[in-house]
Amino acid sequence: MSQAKSSNLGYPRIGEKREWKKLLEAHWSGKIDAAELESETKKLRLSYLQKQRDLQAELIPVGDFSLYDHVLDTAFTFGLVPQRFTGGANTAAHDENCNCATGAHDEEAPASADAEAKVFAPGENGAYGLDAYFAVARGTKAFAASPMTKWFDTNYHYIVPELQGLTPKLTVNRPLAFYLEAKEELGIDGKPVIVGPLTLLKLARGIEEGKFDTLLDQLIPLYAQVLKELGEAGATWVQIDEPILVLETSDEDIARLNKIYAAFRAAAPGLNILLQTYFESVSRYEDIVQLPVQAIGLDFVHDRGRNLAALERHGFPQDKILGAGVIDGRNIWRSDLQVKLDLLRRIKQAAGAKELFVQPSSSLLHVPVTTRSEQALESKIRDGLSFADEKLTEIAVLVKALNEGEEAVAAEIAESVQAVAALNASPERNDESVRDALGKLDARRPERLSPYAVRRDVQAKHWPLPLLPTTTIGSLPQTTEVRQARSKWKKGEWNEEQYVQFLHAETERWIRIQEEIGIDVLVHGEFERNDMVEYFGEQLAGFTTSGFAWVQSYGSRCVKPPILYGDVKLLSPMTVTESAYAQSLTDKPVKGMLTGPITIYNWSFVRDDLPRSVVQNQIALALRSEVSALEEAGIGMIQVDEPALREGLPLKHEDWQSYLDEAVYAFRASTTSVQDETQIHTHMCYAEFGDIIQAISDLDADVISIEAARSHGDLVTAFEDGTYDKGIGLGVFDIHSPRLPEQSEIESIAQRALEVLDPAQFWINPDCGLKTRREEEVIPSLKTMVASAVALREQFAKAGAAGGAGAAGGNS
Ligand code: GLN
Ligand code: ZN
Repeated sequence: MSQAKSSNLGYPRIGEKREWKKLLEAHWSGKIDAAELESETKKLRLSYLQKQRDLQAELIPVGDFSLYDHVLDTAFTFGLVPQRFTGGANTAAHDENCNCATGAHDEEAPASADAEAKVFAPGENGAYGLDAYFAVARGTKAFAASPMTKWFDTNYHYIVPELQGLTPKLTVNRPLAFYLEAKEELGIDGKPVIVGPLTLLKLARGIEEGKFDTLLDQLIPLYAQVLKELGEAGATWVQIDEPILVLETSDEDIARLNKIYAAFRAAAPGLNILLQTYFESVSRYEDIVQLPVQAIGLDFVHDRGRNLAALERHGFPQDKILGAGVIDGRNIWRSDLQVKLDLLRRIKQAAGAKELFVQPSSSLLHVPVTTRSEQALESKIRDGLSFADEKLTEIAVLVKALNEGEEAVAAEIAESVQAVAALNASPERNDESVRDALGKLDARRPERLSPYAVRRDVQAKHWPLPLLPTTTIGSLPQTTEVRQARSKWKKGEWNEEQYVQFLHAETERWIRIQEEIGIDVLVHGEFERNDMVEYFGEQLAGFTTSGFAWVQSYGSRCVKPPILYGDVKLLSPMTVTESAYAQSLTDKPVKGMLTGPITIYNWSFVRDDLPRSVVQNQIALALRSEVSALEEAGIGMIQVDEPALREGLPLKHEDWQSYLDEAVYAFRASTTSVQDETQIHTHMCYAEFGDIIQAISDLDADVISIEAARSHGDLVTAFEDGTYDKGIGLGVFDIHSPRLPEQSEIESIAQRALEVLDPAQFWINPDCGLKTRREEEVIPSLKTMVASAVALREQFAKAGAAGGAGAAGGNS
């Protein structure tokens, strides 16, 4: 019997040249009908299966393919369609689609399908059709889309199941359909992939208090039916994904899992179940490995060594197969196969199990398709990369080494060792000047010259700002002309001079607009930037840009994060020209605009040979020089954006503090070189900030602008204890909505905040950058915002004159 088999957990949907995305968008814009979408995507799907077989994957996932999202697929399988789409109660969903960059986006997907205010009915088989599916995913004129949110700590967003008032029922056995398709079309005995019931329910919303187990009890027989039919159709394996098991898992959950898997086993005794986890170590190793399934899949890459430690400590049941996720499913680097083989041997030694599945650490959904498309990259970088297809080859080599002995693949192993060593030895990874600068960093947190209380007074004198100053977050409308100008310049159709002339003209136009509206602190508009991380990645040493390294972010939206492969260093100032030009046009302050070290790190593909803190600090030191250059050029307010600070939090709570400490350190390393009168701003958006307020305060930025419009002031409660003493602007209107804000709404959001925050520290601003909005929306919105600020100032002036606490109150 062989000792190891290769197993894949999921394959990218998008295609080598994003064919999938193009088909979907063609369908949404009415260019191809549902039948054509179905037949064309079927071709793609079969080609992916064929490719995996060619790459020697033995357990090939089926049903992981999706026309939007696998959580939504699972919900539809069980008839869990939010009631508003089916004529039930019209509960409005809160749309969380975010314009915030998660790396360089591809072009904007067409606007939401403009289906009429119709509701959807199931077909004869009880299943809802594709129109209902896309309506839930994308919204219609009449109904908001279901919310979407991040899939664990990845940049993939899933559609959150909304279960209010719903009872699950099996509509269509989707896994079976995909299993049969693979078998009939290609003769592949695929491994259907299903999101497990515990994960599905834990990720859902709208479950009434005390109804979790009722729903679970309703779901178990439906899942069991799916498995039973799969077994009857001849399936050998099924992969049930329960990534929720890497989060805190209670005794109650363990009891639920036992119930679930006992029922599954009884329903489909001949079908083998691989219970798959990923992205971290499982929290309850000893209980989980005892569950009544045939195989357990564990992540040995992103487990911080904890799965391996648990395995070595507690062993592994002899009647089970261990799915060993040793090839990184989330990052893009080639593995040193000698190191991986040693790891596998160690795992095997500890598990003593009869057989191993050699796997990626998670679905390959999170990596691009193939490095074959990257011929433009320098060969030492390209040879050091491994995308989905190459990762499958790495797995095949490891399997062969285990089954036939290392000699059978000596050449392949040597080649991998050589490629990784070459990249590690490259001058870009061994920059002495970067190492020296890092070596000089103090273990203590970097400090500004004076504490905030002193800076506040210095800045108050230096900057003659009114009470409740107004500002914006940085970007202004990215019109077609702006995007075309950038692309003409990149293609060489425009020379530098033509391009700069265009940028200057656009900036000048908007400086005048901002002045006319009466905004107090202006921005240059970020017209030169396609994306807030890519822009810096293109200019800093240590980064490179791929040609086709796209990954799905949500729906048809893909991102192409910059590749951070070397030591990071500032080559020459990146933003000074634009900022200084803008400042030269006006007497009002213009904020310099940078992306912070944590966000640049989180939204790039990062090297994996150095710890996060080291790479973050390298970025921080580069930004520190940029901050100094801006200050020298007369830019007295500098904003360093960190929208990704919160989302980068580790999955396990116990790891939060060290992440936050490192983040605070890097931010401060970026921003503390300046004089007291230089005002450092930061910005964050669209996340739960309540539990990290202390870290936010520790960033020691003089002013923060932070989203609040969408949480309708809920965020304010986080500041109730009154310990946040620095400048703060809670976003007073939602830039994602095309609806223009009313003055009364803005005032009431601000007033709610001012019950808790001191007017002397409060700023008035939108909740994020304005690049996705049209000029016709931005100008009136900002006018209303300024009018609100003026009205509020008058109220405070009156209150002050009447001897009230007014503007002087609070903790100033
Ligand atoms: N300064 C950036 C902008 O306004 C910030 C974007 C963000 O928060 N993602 O576009
Ligand atoms: Zn933002």
